Amino acid sequence: MSFDADVIIVGGGLSGLSAGITAIKEGLNVILLERGEYSGAKNVSGGRMYIHALQKLIPDALERAPLERPITKETYEFYCKNKKLTFSFEEKDKKNSYSVLRAKFDRWLASEAESLGLLISYSTLVTNAYRENGGITLETNRGTLRAPLAIDASGVTSVVFRYLGLRNFTPDKWMLGVKEIIKTNVNLPESEGEARTIVGLISGVKGGGFVYTNKDTLSVGMAVTFDSLPKSEVPAKDLVESFREKLGIEGEVLEYSAHAIPYYGFKNLQQLYADNLIAVGDSAGFLINDGFTIRGMDLAIASGMIAGLAAKKIVEMRDFTKTSIYYDMLKESFVLKHLELAYSRFELINKGTTLNIYTEVLCDLLSDMFTVTEDRKTLIEYALLRLKEKGISLTQAIRDMISAVK
Ligand SMILES: Cc1cc2nc3c(=O)[nH]c(=O)nc-3n(C[C@H](O)[C@H](O)[C@H](O)COP(=O)(O)OP(=O)(O)OC[C@H]3O[C@@H](n4cnc5c(N)ncnc54)[C@H](O)[C@@H]3O)c2cc1C
Repeated sequence: MSFDADVIIVGGGLSGLSAGITAIKEGLNVILLERGEYSGAKNVSGGRMYIHALQKLIPDALERAPLERPITKETYEFYCKNKKLTFSFEEKDKKNSYSVLRAKFDRWLASEAESLGLLISYSTLVTNAYRENGGITLETNRGTLRAPLAIDASGVTSVVFRYLGLRNFTPDKWMLGVKEIIKTNVNLPESEGEARTIVGLISGVKGGGFVYTNKDTLSVGMAVTFDSLPKSEVPAKDLVESFREKLGIEGEVLEYSAHAIPYYGFKNLQQLYADNLIAVGDSAGFLINDGFTIRGMDLAIASGMIAGLAAKKIVEMRDFTKTSIYYDMLKESFVLKHLELAYSRFELINKGTTLNIYTEVLCDLLSDMFTVTEDRKTLIEYALLRLKEKGISLTQAIRDMISAVK
């Protein structure tokens, strides 16, 4: 039986397009299948991209890519009932991360890929996958395709792995991401942008919210664990609207989207490769939320590039069981290293209500500092008192602090 291509990529988001661009540059015969009418039609991000991986994929991306604004200001807001703690950090001229709008960005990246010769079949939904004659057969709404190597870039639902029986549906390991794009006046020079991270504004949920400044819109959204939704003060469908209203952000809602976010953590990552098959981006569960950064896009681009390079080696060897090459290359890259580095903070954030409790301790402590009464205590006495009130021992607090800075 003949194959239709050396490699078939399922999913035309950042990971699939990056795999496609790299594999085409390596001279492979590649087909990419995307269920949306165009790349970006089905893709959701909060919208802050750390651009180091993009610059490796497309060296002059800073000049040509449809990036919105460089993020030059970080603001954290912690809400604890009637108290609020805010801190901001500014670094003018910083060009390490940019706000992006995925509908624009992915479409641009797809046009870059097509100009390099990548064949993208849009409106093509993969409906089943099975092994046949040493390769993988993909059934779609537009016919059947076969390749000796498939790259699953279908996002959090990892359809190819699931159709092959290699993954379970694991929403208990996912977060719900909801987001609106709001038309508003952005009173900042074009060279500046702000990322606001907001915790504790909607009570009950585990997770937080964000506001990113685009050129002339704001991206406003929340990412919360599915298991905490029943405890939320507002139903899931009203989460982002309620969040925006509480922040007092007004303007026309141009876009609403909701999407699952993988949230496995380094030690719980799913199977990343099998014979004839590689997982990239969200399909591989590559997401970092370490309390300071939310990163999926740079990991998607980098893992896609690594998959494209690994595909070249695998095709050259004509041994499609040698997909562990991809894993070996991932281990050498920042992708798995950064996921591992973030694991202790992932655990800390994920541990019950840790974040909320320490936020409350900090708010109470600040309130103590700014309150003058006759029985004034030292800061350490107040800290011990507040921790005790929350049932946290000093040893536990120190241990958690070490995990937070590790
Ligand atoms: C609300 C929210 C906020 C986020 N904020 C950030 C952020 O600020 N910064 C950051 O770096 N990351 C963020 N992320 C994570 C980031 O968006 C993802 O990690 C990234 O989009 C992963 O890219 P991907 O290409 O692997 O998957 P996706 O972008 O999900 O692409 C998968 C593609 O596969 C296609 N597909 C799926 N099933 C099929 C099928 N059966 N047949 C054919 N095609 C199929 C889809 O249409 C889609 O185009 C956020 C995510 C969400 C939801």
